[in-house]
Amino acid sequence: MSKSFCGLLALVLLAGCQPPAEPFLPEHASIELLIENGRVLDGTGSEAFAADVVVVGDEIVFVGDAAFTDADREERVVRSIDAAGRIVAPGFIDLHSHGDPLETPKLENFLAMGVTTITLGQDGSSPDVLPLSDWMDEVAANGIGTNLAMFIGHGTLRTQSGIGMSGSPPPEDLQRMLDMLDEALDYTFGMSTGLEYNPGLNADTAELRALARVVGDHDRMIMSHMRNEDDDQLEASIAELLEQGEDARVHISHLKSVYGQGSARAEQILGILEDARASGTDISAEIYPYSASYTGIGIVFPVWAKTQEQFDVAKVERRDELAEYLRNRVNQRNGPEATLLGTDPWTGKALADVAHEMEMPFEDVLIDVIGPGGASGAYFVMNDELQTRLLQDPNVGVCSDGSPTGFHPRGHGTFAKIIETYVVDRNVLSLPQAVAKMTSFAAGVLGIEDRGRLEEGLAADIVIFDPQRVRATASYPDPLRLADGFDVVIVNGKVARERGALDEALHGRVLRPE
Ligand SMILES: [Zn+2]
Repeated sequence: MSKSFCGLLALVLLAGCQPPAEPFLPEHASIELLIENGRVLDGTGSEAFAADVVVVGDEIVFVGDAAFTDADREERVVRSIDAAGRIVAPGFIDLHSHGDPLETPKLENFLAMGVTTITLGQDGSSPDVLPLSDWMDEVAANGIGTNLAMFIGHGTLRTQSGIGMSGSPPPEDLQRMLDMLDEALDYTFGMSTGLEYNPGLNADTAELRALARVVGDHDRMIMSHMRNEDDDQLEASIAELLEQGEDARVHISHLKSVYGQGSARAEQILGILEDARASGTDISAEIYPYSASYTGIGIVFPVWAKTQEQFDVAKVERRDELAEYLRNRVNQRNGPEATLLGTDPWTGKALADVAHEMEMPFEDVLIDVIGPGGASGAYFVMNDELQTRLLQDPNVGVCSDGSPTGFHPRGHGTFAKIIETYVVDRNVLSLPQAVAKMTSFAAGVLGIEDRGRLEEGLAADIVIFDPQRVRATASYPDPLRLADGFDVVIVNGKVARERGALDEALHGRVLRPE
């Protein structure tokens, strides 16, 4: 017998004495992605643990100690990522976003800050397409960089049903709006309201409650930009939402107290929400981590001068009253220095600077130069201590309230800033708490069951990062800078962005409720 035959015989005999080595995860012929050596934060709020993550198709199929033999690995593992020294977490879910995915489908501002699902149709305003599902189908066909959870806007329903800006709609108009809502809730995650804006601000309690009953019948939710966010109006605004909460789950969009101060005030606000929950109302909220809001300049105009038509009349008939209202309102909101315009030709200038340059009082600039529809701006109206305390509450999540193009750093920085500033620098949230807010909490609010946690069987939306290297680089003067530090962002099992490079293909989906 030759030596080599002896060797082979010995191998065969040896192998025969042991059970044959089972391939790892034999049910999968091919392993598309193996994320190794990282520390997994599963999104539930639990501490991080060492584990590998295996992705097949668009699904997480294994979390634990992956046991591929070298040969098996060679044969079946298509791609592996070494996540040593980094966190592996579920992709973030933005509870309140803006943008038009038909115009800017890549949504890189969101992907760069670890966001894999956004929510649109906010503040009472969804695309004016009937039925809305046609628009959603178009977005899906066109492609989208992140997943999208869609809301039907109450203001849009008002417009489409012919109610527009009128007060109490006649019963047949109201019924038409309720029927349209009923149809849209089959494929959206709920209804949004924008009660500080036209046409939503014209709705009364009876209308809002009738809408809430339809939302509740579908087991969906109401996302509300409340009627008034001023500190002295906050209780009344929340009370109005809580009435709707008797019939449906309710949620406060971008919770804030405009010119309120201090953590004690935050405790009061949180106490109202806690009491409501204790008596059976399902209410939650979210905030963005900046002390300036951002919206149309119409926010400082009175309800009787918000539209161009109303304004044209008021300018002639109630000029002094309008000027006084604007002077008081802007001063109450920390003055014209705290109003940073974001629309050309004034982009980057404070209202005070424009007034100074034009040598006129700022209220005259608002009336004679800008008007209620003439600009958007950032308004430095929030107190950091108060907002930070709100953010720490376990029933308060995170939103960007931003878009790919909005002139406010929140659209490019929010989710990075939560980690950089609130977790690493200031230590007011732990990393597991922060990630839970941005993942499982958000999924729970929206009623999304297959995302928001890093677990076997869930959709593979995953972000890999070192918290120490996460940076929100967007600023008020330079708000469109992409965030740094989210090294790998995976959407539906595909690497969508890696070390700053965006994949050509778009991997998001237009989600439908279960
Ligand atoms: Zn809003």
